[in-house]
Amino acid sequence: MTGFSRFLRKEIIKVDEVDLSIMWTTSALIPPFGVFVPVLSTVIICFASYYFFKWINGDVIVHIRDATKNHSWTSLRMSSKAWYCSICESLLLNGIGVYCDCCGVCADTDCIKKANKRLQCKVITSKTDVFFHHWVKGNLPLGALCALCQDDCSMEPGLVDFQCCWCQRTVHTECLKGLEKECDFGPFRNIIVPPWCVQVARMKSSIHRHLLLRGVQDPGWQNWCPLVVVANRKSGNNDGGIVLSEFRKYLNPVQVLDLAERTPAAALQWSVLVAPKPIKLLIAGGDGTVSWILSSVHKMDLDPQPAVSLLPLGTGNDLSRVLGWGKQNHSEIDVEKLIGRLLMPRQHF
Ligand SMILES: [Zn+2]
Ligand SMILES: [Zn+2]
Ligand SMILES: [Zn+2]
Ligand SMILES: [Zn+2]
Repeated sequence: MTGFSRFLRKEIIKVDEVDLSIMWTTSALIPPFGVFVPVLSTVIICFASYYFFKWINGDVIVHIRDATKNHSWTSLRMSSKAWYCSICESLLLNGIGVYCDCCGVCADTDCIKKANKRLQCKVITSKTDVFFHHWVKGNLPLGALCALCQDDCSMEPGLVDFQCCWCQRTVHTECLKGLEKECDFGPFRNIIVPPWCVQVARMKSSIHRHLLLRGVQDPGWQNWCPLVVVANRKSGNNDGGIVLSEFRKYLNPVQVLDLAERTPAAALQWSVLVAPKPIKLLIAGGDGTVSWILSSVHKMDLDPQPAVSLLPLGTGNDLSRVLGWGKQNHSEIDVEKLIGRLLMPRQHF
């Protein structure tokens, strides 16, 4: 019995100890838990309000294409110009092949992979403000003149002579050494966002990596007012796609937004990033696209407001006709002429 009593006593003590420890743990938990719940709910409310106001103000994430991966390949359009592969230099017969609408590199189907690996596309961001021409060999526009000797370029067949994909200068291979190495972004520099002014963030997700536009700096150029082009590549019998392609050639590709992939709020986020400087906003599309974007401009209450120009595409162009901005489709788009008119104050198409 004595042994049993001792055993019982031990167990009681053990139970007491356990009970005590449970009591201690519970009592220790109660005060922090009591504080934790209101703190957690306050944090959640703060985060929710922050993101709600960010959303209300149109402060949205702008996803951008990673130009370090692949070129922005586009089907070759039928033209009187002969196209040559930038890798094997052979003539692309019957227009079968692709070209990069950002940098102008061209490839037949066998050379696309090699072109992605060997030839760098137009960089959208860089760390240094010393910027050199980005020369792309061959496939110069018809009637191109040499920036050094002023004679005609591409007088011989084949992949000859060079064009800078930023300033659009063209030059003979033999004249290349005589030109300044540094690129001044050419006649349209006041609407171009130079790569060193573009701040991006790399985000990793479980599927792939994203590039996000984080900030846009002012390059400090006089009268600098970046142009942002918005269109839907599927609208206007694919004219929207042609407009986007053409402007990617002349601008930093991040300035060109396809509404098939991005929202108007993402496009207008440029206004927020460039503020207090204003932006020029070119909307290419029909009435539906225009009213969609203009209602977003109104909703976001941007300050300063972007200077809006329209390039009518498709058939529903009543709004642009009423406002005197033009009414016909643009099957052939002369982008240099359009930009020239955009650079003039108070001009619309
Ligand atoms: Zn090839
Ligand atoms: Zn490219
Ligand atoms: Zn250049
Ligand atoms: Zn020359």
